[in-house]
Amino acid sequence: MRKIEHIGIAVKDFTVSVPLFEKMLNTVCYKNETVAGEKVNTAFFKKGETKIELLESLEPDGVIAKFIERKGEGIHHIAFDVEDIEAEMQRMKKEGFVLLNEIPKQGADNKLVCFLHPKGTNGVLVELCQEIK
Ligand code: ZN
Repeated sequence: MRKIEHIGIAVKDFTVSVPLFEKMLNTVCYKNETVAGEKVNTAFFKKGETKIELLESLEPDGVIAKFIERKGEGIHHIAFDVEDIEAEMQRMKKEGFVLLNEIPKQGADNKLVCFLHPKGTNGVLVELCQEIK
């Protein structure tokens, strides 16, 4: 793990939240991307080295919709930048962490991603992500 790559925030409605974050961060959303496999829309903001990813559900039964139902809007996950996702996944498994996917998945923003089960991480959903070169 090298650094926090981004923080993921679950929101109900981009038409409300994108302008809100643009106002708060005083910068425009630089990327919108749909990840159909995860049933989410994403919107990215950058402030210096820090990236924020807003997540909006495409379907009422998507993971983000379910998360908001249980916990309300707010911080959904913390993503760490890794150099070699396969090696990091192996290391995590050896340390006893439970991976939510055994094979890296295609994520937003040109990344391969893997999530760790929050039961093993004090309730924090952790995403490992590696830039696709
Ligand atoms: Zn993410």
